[in-house]
Amino acid sequence: MSNNGIVIVGGGLAAARTAEQLRRSGYTGPVTIVSDEVHLPYDRPPLSKEVLRKEVDDVVLKPREFYDENDITLRLGAAATGLDTAAQTLTLSDGTSLGYDELVIATGLVPRRIPAFPDLEGIRVLRSFDESMALREHAFKAQHAVVVGAGFIGCEVAASLRTLGVDVVLVEPQPTPLASVLGEQIGELVSRLHRSEGVDVRTGIGVAEVRGDGRVDTVVLSDGTELAADLVVVGIGSRPATEWLDGSGVDVDNGVICDEAGRTSAPNVWALGDVASWRDATGHQARVEHWSNVADQARVVVPAMLGQEVPSITVVPYFWSDQYDVKIQCLGEPEATDIVHLVEDDGRKFLAYYERDGVVVGVVGGGLPGKVMKARGKIAAATPISEMLG
Ligand SMILES: Cc1cc2nc3c(=O)[nH]c(=O)nc-3n(C[C@H](O)[C@H](O)[C@H](O)COP(=O)(O)OP(=O)(O)OC[C@H]3O[C@@H](n4cnc5c(N)ncnc54)[C@H](O)[C@@H]3O)c2cc1C
Repeated sequence: MSNNGIVIVGGGLAAARTAEQLRRSGYTGPVTIVSDEVHLPYDRPPLSKEVLRKEVDDVVLKPREFYDENDITLRLGAAATGLDTAAQTLTLSDGTSLGYDELVIATGLVPRRIPAFPDLEGIRVLRSFDESMALREHAFKAQHAVVVGAGFIGCEVAASLRTLGVDVVLVEPQPTPLASVLGEQIGELVSRLHRSEGVDVRTGIGVAEVRGDGRVDTVVLSDGTELAADLVVVGIGSRPATEWLDGSGVDVDNGVICDEAGRTSAPNVWALGDVASWRDATGHQARVEHWSNVADQARVVVPAMLGQEVPSITVVPYFWSDQYDVKIQCLGEPEATDIVHLVEDDGRKFLAYYERDGVVVGVVGGGLPGKVMKARGKIAAATPISEMLG
């Protein structure tokens, strides 16, 4: 074996957690993180929340000393542009190349844009720290914002902009916000929350056109309604950042295809985080775009890569979304097609159990963290819904 060590491509949570886990597992060879961003690996959840509201500026996951002390080399501001899995070599945008013994793909997602939109100042997406800072600068001057897409990021941006005093119209083609993830019943409660804060929630409608002269001034909805807008935020989801893998032989299909330990189709190449589609316990490929999934995967991929025993952990998936003072939390694997039992609702806070095949598969709460977390064991044990409701 050469001594090129382990090269991690990507500069986000998955890269940082993998590097950290490698050292914690006793790996002493070279570890290199290659990121196209100039920043130290940082945390993304605050970008649509505290950073946007100017409450927080520093979102770095670990200070530079951590990388120095752990002998982790950072190649920042250099994108991976190609991969030769036979030669075990990575090409970088600065013209250099890097050999590896093991390669970890952790390149996350790229936000989708709407190609039909003209190139106008004031139309923004949000994925990176720089995009969050630029959006924030704009938001502090904006009066009328249109947020296109009421997924988690769209809803959080709408909440943050509203908190800053901006007039917000939230436009969503589906019948409610978050309908495809949590179903329409809970989506309706999310709509209610935003409306109670003064957001103009328009569902079942799309955007036909965006107009402006140099900078955006009008959004035209598909029913012809014209909305004044000096800021448009597009939150219509993201796609896996995998172009650089074209021709490499690494199988990609809505993410990097991996087995249940993060192994890709190419030898000595692994993937985790938002970019990776892991095989789940039922044999299906699933790509998860949530924070806590990253650490769960790092705890599996690192021992698998080092030939160590892979811990068998029962993970109950979890994610959260902060909108105003309400923390929406999802535990387990709720799906829009499940039967939803709304067991608490005081007009703002709520708790719902998701039933599939007679058992509880997920719990979703708004502003009731204790009650959501208490259900973890019940979900892991596939508790009959009758017992939950009894
Ligand atoms: C605004 C926002 C808010 C969020 N809020 C929540 C939340 O409240 N709760 C929750 O559970 N999850 C949330 N998430 C999701 C969570 O942040 C992600 O699951 C997590 O960041 C995934 O980490 P990752 O390392 O896989 O990807 P990323 O964090 O996207 O990191 C990927 C990195 O790879 C770099 N990269 C891409 N291509 C290349 C290349 N060719 N060469 C080198 N580097 C490259 C990227 O620039 C980036 O630095 C949020 C995400 C965003 C964007």
